[in-house]
Amino acid sequence: MTAPSNHVLVLVEHGEGSVKKVTLELLTAARELGEPAAVVVGPPGTAAPLVDRLGEYGATKVYAVESEDAEKYLVTPKSEALAGLVEAGSPAAVLIASSAEGKEVAGRLAMRTRSGILTDAVAVDGDGTATQSIFGGAVVVRSRVRTGTPIITLRPNAVSASPAPAQPTTEEVPLSLPDAARGATVLERVVEEKGSRPALTDASVVVSGGRGLGSGDNFAVVEKLADALGGAVGASRAATDAGWYPHQAQVGQTGVTVSPQLYVAVGISGAIQHRAGMQTSKTIVAINKDPEAPIFELVDYGVVGDLFQVVPQLTDEVTKRKG
Ligand SMILES: Cc1cc2nc3c(=O)[nH]c(=O)nc-3n(C[C@H](O)[C@H](O)[C@H](O)COP(=O)(O)OP(=O)(O)OC[C@H]3O[C@@H](n4cnc5c(N)ncnc54)[C@H](O)[C@@H]3O)c2cc1C
Repeated sequence: MTAPSNHVLVLVEHGEGSVKKVTLELLTAARELGEPAAVVVGPPGTAAPLVDRLGEYGATKVYAVESEDAEKYLVTPKSEALAGLVEAGSPAAVLIASSAEGKEVAGRLAMRTRSGILTDAVAVDGDGTATQSIFGGAVVVRSRVRTGTPIITLRPNAVSASPAPAQPTTEEVPLSLPDAARGATVLERVVEEKGSRPALTDASVVVSGGRGLGSGDNFAVVEKLADALGGAVGASRAATDAGWYPHQAQVGQTGVTVSPQLYVAVGISGAIQHRAGMQTSKTIVAINKDPEAPIFELVDYGVVGDLFQVVPQLTDEVTKRKG
């Protein structure tokens, strides 16, 4: 079990037997740095169904770290599995998704291997330079790790996943957890109930509502448009803080970052903290009654008007065209 120096370890996020989209983005970014090697941590039988998909996006190697212990403890099985691989070889870098869990795994891994860490990168260059977008997107920082194995967490949706088929070989790696890694035991897992809409970070269309909606009930207007477009529903912080929509739907600096093909902002002013989470969307449409609203500075299409008149008409038109 040695990770050669041209290997870039990618921690695989998976669920229900499939690879999460962010992992495909990480594999795509890893190809800039060397040969992607996917690390799957989970109970026995987890890796096999994922291998083909990982190969499709360029993984030349799959490290299967399978153990019943993998789900018994919080983040430590992942950080220990990666630490074992880093210590046994000298991979070029480790890429991890910039989720709350991913950042904790990365932090622990950096401590364990005495390596430098860069979090929330939006791009990684071939020489290992990571780009971070900070202060709500107002400042761009480019940095490179100089100590140990570079550990980089990459924001979901920052890189577009592109296939580059490879034939990965699988290597089984035992999971060894020291006592210090067994401190927090998972007692129960509850599966979140999902509706029929796509997940916010995966959706190619996102329709978000803001304070302009005036109440939680009025979010139905946004949901109808999202459903007509087959999209997900997002919200501004003003709307989630008011309790009109769940916090998980908050788009922005302190919420999720989305980068869909189409982003529709309904009754959202376009504060810098909101823009930080959606400004890389491919096409941006805003509906706002204030022609001076800052959101109009970054839109591709803007409609100045009352959302309660514009959005239902738009929904009807989309529905009609879909037949
Ligand atoms: C540290 C920090 C972190 C933050 N993080 C986030 C974040 O992650 N995400 C985020 O969104 N915000 C965040 N914020 C808050 C941010 O600064 C704004 O306060 C927030 O985005 C405003 O939400 P809004 O656009 O819905 O509300 P408002 O700014 O009040 O805008 C409402 C808009 O609706 C329009 N409107 C009203 N009625 C109608 C109507 N009938 N038809 C059409 N338009 C109408 C108005 O013209 C107005 O432009 C953060 C703030 C701080 C300080």
